[in-house]
Amino acid sequence: MNRSMLLNTLEHCRQVDTQDPLHVLRHQFDLPPGVIYLDGNSLGVLPRTTAARVAEVVTQEWGQGLIRSWNSAGWFDAPRRAGDKIARLVGAGPNEVVATDSTSINLFKVLSAALNMAAQDAPQRRIIVSERSNFPTDLYIAEALCQERGCTLKLVEPEEIASSLTANVAVLMLTHVNYRTGAMHDMAGVTAAAHAAGILTVWDLAHSAGAVPVDLTGAQADFAVGCGYKYLNGGPGAPAFVWVHPKHADRFWQPLAGWWGHATPFAFSADYQPAPGITRYLCGTQPIISLAALDCGLDTLLAAEPLGGMAALRAKSLALTDLFIELVETRCAGHGLTLATPRDHGQRGSQVCLTRAAGAYAIVQALIARGVIGDFRAGDGGAHPDILRFGFTPLTIGFEDVWNAVEHLKQVLDTREWQQPEFNQKHAVT
Ligand SMILES: *Cc1c(COP(=O)(O)O)cnc(C)c1O
Repeated sequence: MNRSMLLNTLEHCRQVDTQDPLHVLRHQFDLPPGVIYLDGNSLGVLPRTTAARVAEVVTQEWGQGLIRSWNSAGWFDAPRRAGDKIARLVGAGPNEVVATDSTSINLFKVLSAALNMAAQDAPQRRIIVSERSNFPTDLYIAEALCQERGCTLKLVEPEEIASSLTANVAVLMLTHVNYRTGAMHDMAGVTAAAHAAGILTVWDLAHSAGAVPVDLTGAQADFAVGCGYKYLNGGPGAPAFVWVHPKHADRFWQPLAGWWGHATPFAFSADYQPAPGITRYLCGTQPIISLAALDCGLDTLLAAEPLGGMAALRAKSLALTDLFIELVETRCAGHGLTLATPRDHGQRGSQVCLTRAAGAYAIVQALIARGVIGDFRAGDGGAHPDILRFGFTPLTIGFEDVWNAVEHLKQVLDTREWQQPEFNQKHAVT
């Protein structure tokens, strides 16, 4: 079956949706009518179960159970329970992941631990290498930590990573799927190259967990963090997660040694004894209501397990992004759009980014006014141009949605609708 021929009309896209075994997963969500949501990579959609589950935690577990719920409702283990679910999505084992704090905070913890390991094993290694186009918070956290410890943050372009793995480098800190371009690193290959040079790896899975298959164990990665409110559908500000390879987990305290990371928090002892394993990466009392919402989001991804799990979701995601690219290039040809996401499946995350010499922000705004929600990411006026970003979460997006999204984009460009003044005023959150 030639997919291109099959998908060149709206009718054909609808037909493929009806034959798609993953299409049923969409019914797990309450999507607003008239919206094509291509921003699940920034804030995942609301699962149908979340509102009732959160209400139950509030009215029953908190309202009626009160403090007894730490035990009777399992509140105390909530970070580990959610962590075990996340582990199934990122190739980690049980008891290796906790859901806690934010991605930024978790990154601070693992980078500190990695620098501690390097300081002990190879004190001459005092550099963190990362990508210049990494998500800014990752760079800010690394910069602050470097300042505190007298280390150096070295920023490179993706093609310079291999040559920057030198004898004075302690840690290679990368985001697996680039938030701007959707370009994906070969985690196993890059980790092996780093290890061959004596360098530890820290992976940010913010745009990978729940989006692409990840195998932390197989890649022999050292540390990983990731986000709960993007592809994991945990809700705004959902707890993030942290994974440390079991061989490293017990080597160091993490720097935020709070009582929830203590081996026996309810002994209330004056001295700190870190819990074994990943539990020591907890800090203080955890947000139980948010963890309950995250749990509902994780269940929407685990519901794909009997249908082929992340591998099946990945196959659909690639088919969706292939189709989007093909339709943009054929139906919107001549409008100055350039593909910024790799065509090679091995290097593509679950999003497609386009660049345009002018108007990227306004085009995104015009699309949002039509109910096609993507987002805009500002460039630096130099090597990294402004980006129109479209995320494809295969749990909720179908082939008909892709067709319709491109049809709207075509109309916005054909009619120059984006040039209207209301689409050219910048909001605080882009
Ligand atoms: C979304 C994202 C974050 C978010 O960090 P917060 O602490 O949740 O604000 C961090 N890093 C990357 C790469 C991201 O994509």
